[in-house]
Amino acid sequence: MLSNLQPQSPDKILALMAEFRADPRAEKIDLGVGVYKDETGLTPVMRAVRKAEERILREETTKTYTALPGEPAYREAMARLILGDDLPVDRLATVASVGGTGALRVGIDLARMANPALRVWVSDPTWPNHVSILNYLGVETLTYRYFDAETRGVNFDGMIEDLRGAKPGDLVLLHGCCHNPTGANLNIAQWDEVAALLAETGATPLIDLAYQGFGDGLDADAAGTRLIASRLPEVLIAASCSKNFGIYRERTGILLAICPDSATRDLAQGAMAHLNRQTFSFPPDHGARIVTTILTDPELRRDWETELEEVRTGMLDLREQLVRELRERSGSDRFGFLAAHRGMFSRLGATPEQVETLKRDYGIYLVGDSRLNIAGLNKNTVPVLAQAIIDVGI
Ligand code: PMP
Repeated sequence: MLSNLQPQSPDKILALMAEFRADPRAEKIDLGVGVYKDETGLTPVMRAVRKAEERILREETTKTYTALPGEPAYREAMARLILGDDLPVDRLATVASVGGTGALRVGIDLARMANPALRVWVSDPTWPNHVSILNYLGVETLTYRYFDAETRGVNFDGMIEDLRGAKPGDLVLLHGCCHNPTGANLNIAQWDEVAALLAETGATPLIDLAYQGFGDGLDADAAGTRLIASRLPEVLIAASCSKNFGIYRERTGILLAICPDSATRDLAQGAMAHLNRQTFSFPPDHGARIVTTILTDPELRRDWETELEEVRTGMLDLREQLVRELRERSGSDRFGFLAAHRGMFSRLGATPEQVETLKRDYGIYLVGDSRLNIAGLNKNTVPVLAQAIIDVGI
């Protein structure tokens, strides 16, 4: 039977990681894979995470199953982190999930249960796994214009024009902050317009919030999500703790469903727990417990927020430095967009040939669409990248 399987096309980023590892050059620079790295190239365990784990080790009395939708304390702490303290309690359904990816998967499955003819709008471009999950599920996928190749900012007029085609029963997948792969984001006035348009069309937003705290700060990065949540009767939010808590392999995420009324909330809550049961049964708890411990302990929370802020401002400093170095070498401000982008990623706007040349001649690894991971840089490698960008004529 298994011999009938067809080979899967390899994940491009994972293939790039393997190529990087095999490259013998000492000066090689990995700007490919989407994990945060500090100035020494490590993805550290955050201080508060370590302390929370020590506490859990001392105090945990059982490893029996958690609740099917996950621990209530985790779900409440995360809902507050994302939506703020003013929660729409009567309209809010929540389930813990296997990472942000698991939350997206359960969210799409939920929408498909409610509407078997589901269509999902995704930004062009978007995180490739969005498209591949939707294709795998056989869900009709439509794209809306998002990235302006000329300005390297958001093509907002194009986005609005395309989303006018959305209708009730559609999902519109939005990146809550730190758009992956482009780094270009909506400002709050634009979120406002998107909310109005969604209200007009009757489509349901699905907000992917994978980088809260990596862009402009914990609250600022949730501002668009909160605005949408306060304006629309129905909103799905799939959030990840992988990046902002640095607990990638613990697979910690959550799906929030804000519903039009409490009766619908009860239906959604039941359906979401059912989907957990059908997919993996009980959600993992260790990462969720770490997150709950940190968010509910004032001292640990302060420490976590401080370290996250160091991560965020460190990436902003690297962006500023890169723009300065490029300004000096190019004699122009045409790379200023890199400082306007937020999060780990920026789409440089290089051709596939230029990306290939950077890899072959300079040992600088970018994803093929010219997405670069700012966190892969440090003060010493920024000038090297800047020079290479100028040399290859980007
Ligand atoms: N959404 C986006 C846009 C992402 O970049 C990622 C991580 N690469 C995720 C969701 C999922 O994160 P995870 O499943 O690792 O929590």
